Amino acid sequence: MRYISTRGAAPALGFEDVLLTGLARDGGLYVPETWPQFTADDIRALRGLPYSEVAVRVMLPFLGGAISESDFRALVRDAYATFDHDAVTPLVQLDQRTWVLELFHGPTLAFKDVALQLLGRLFDHVLERRGERVTIVGATSGDTGSAAIEACRDRHNVDIFILHPKGRTSEVQRRQMTSVLSSNVHNIALEGSFDDCQDLVKAMFNDTAFRDKLNLSAVNSINWARIMAQIVYYFASAAALGAPDREIDFVVPTGNFGNVYAAYGARAMGLPTAKLIVGSNTNDILARFFASGTMAAQGVTPTLSPSMDIQISSNFERLLFDLLGRDGAAVEACMRTFRAEGRFAVTDAQLAQALAIFAGHRVDEDATMATITDTWRRHGGYTVDPHTAVGVASAAAAGTAPGRPVVVLATAHPAKFPDAVEKATGRRPALPPRLGDLYEREERLSVLPNDLAQVQGFVTQRARAAQGVA
Ligand SMILES: *Cc1c(COP(=O)(O)O)cnc(C)c1O
Repeated sequence: MRYISTRGAAPALGFEDVLLTGLARDGGLYVPETWPQFTADDIRALRGLPYSEVAVRVMLPFLGGAISESDFRALVRDAYATFDHDAVTPLVQLDQRTWVLELFHGPTLAFKDVALQLLGRLFDHVLERRGERVTIVGATSGDTGSAAIEACRDRHNVDIFILHPKGRTSEVQRRQMTSVLSSNVHNIALEGSFDDCQDLVKAMFNDTAFRDKLNLSAVNSINWARIMAQIVYYFASAAALGAPDREIDFVVPTGNFGNVYAAYGARAMGLPTAKLIVGSNTNDILARFFASGTMAAQGVTPTLSPSMDIQISSNFERLLFDLLGRDGAAVEACMRTFRAEGRFAVTDAQLAQALAIFAGHRVDEDATMATITDTWRRHGGYTVDPHTAVGVASAAAAGTAPGRPVVVLATAHPAKFPDAVEKATGRRPALPPRLGDLYEREERLSVLPNDLAQVQGFVTQRARAAQGVA
C-alpha cells in the first residue's frame, strides 16, 4: 500500500512514513494510491463482531504489512479499551429511521478520541522499532488539546507540549488538559491569545534547526492515520443496520471535512452509502461550495459549536484531488488561486460529481438551539450537544428517502457544552463518572510569557528527543 500526495510533487510513501510525516513535502495531503476493496460478503461478515475486530479488518489493508496483524490487534484493543462503552461507538435509535452514532465515549468526550487513541499508540509502536523519539507541539483554544494529550500521555517515545491561552479556556477544558500528570505531558499556559499560541507553534516548526533537534511532529487533522481510524465506524454502524443489503445515509457535522471524508473513504472501499450529508454551522464554507461550486473563504464567527468554527476545510483537498481526476498539478493550481484570491471554483461537471455523493446544509444558531430542545422533548429526554444538533437538523432538512436508515454522527458528549444544553432543555447535563472528580484533581501547568526564545528553551529542556536518542 502506497500513499501519494494530492499535489503530485512529493514522493509516494508507505504507511509508516505517512503516519510520521503528516503533511506531504509539496504541501499536499497523502491519500491511498488505490482504495482497498470490501465485497458484499466481507461487509456482511462484520455484523456482530466486536468493534476492535471490525477495526482490525477495515484498517489492516492500509498498513501494507508495516505492522503485523497480531501487533496491530493488540494496539487496537488497547486503544478502544479506553472507551467507556462496550460497543465503543454505540448506535442509539431516535425514531423509526434515524439513529445517532455516539462517538463520544472516549477519554475526552469527543469524537477525536476515536482516531487519536489509536494514533498515539501507532506513533509509539513505530518509533520504538526505529529507536526514535518525537516531540509533539500544538496550540489549542481549549477544545481539542485534551484529545491530543490523552492520546500521547504515558507513551514512551513521545513528549507533548500543548500551548493554551492563559485564562481564556473554560475551566473544564483547562482541567481536562492540566489534570493529566504524566511526565511526558507539558501544558503551557501562554500569556497571550490563541493566535499567539498558534504563531509560536508555527515559528517552532519554521525554525529548521530546532525542528530537527527535537524531531518535531504534530497529530493534526490532516494526518492520514486519523482518517483511516475514522473509516471504521462507518463500516461498523452500516453493517449493524443491514449493509450491504441496505443503503445508509450518513449525516456528519463538519469543520475540517476530515470526518465526512472518512465516510467517502468507506464508500470508495465498497460500503453502499446513499447520501453523505455535510452539516455546517454558520461558518458554512462547505454548504456554500455544494450550493455553488465555488469555495470562498470568509471570516470566522464564533458559534455554539466551536469545533466547527473554521475558515477553510483543510481535508477538502483530498476530495478535490478526486474531483480533478487525481491531477496533482491541477490541485496545486487551485490551492494557489485560493491562497491568492481567497476562492476557487470547480466546473459544473465536477460539482455534479460531488453532488452525486454529498449534500451540504447550513444550520444557524437558533436552529441549533431549537434542535437540542426538540430532540430532548420528542425523544424521551435524549440530549444532544450543539455539534450533534447541527447534524440532527441537517438530517431533517435533507429530506432523505422514506424507509432508508439515516445515521447522524454525535461528535461530542452534551456535558462538554453544558451551558447551551441547559439553556435549551432546562437541565444541566452531568459529567460522566470517569470525569466526575475533575474539579478535585490536581493540576500541573507552566505559565510562560509570549516569547519564542523562552518557549523554545522550555521545550528543549524537557523534551527527551533533545537529549539524544534512546
Ligand atoms: C473536530 C470536531 C468536529 C469536526 O470534525 P472534522 O473532522 O473537522 O469535520 C465536529 N465536532 C466536534 C465535537 C469536534 O471536536
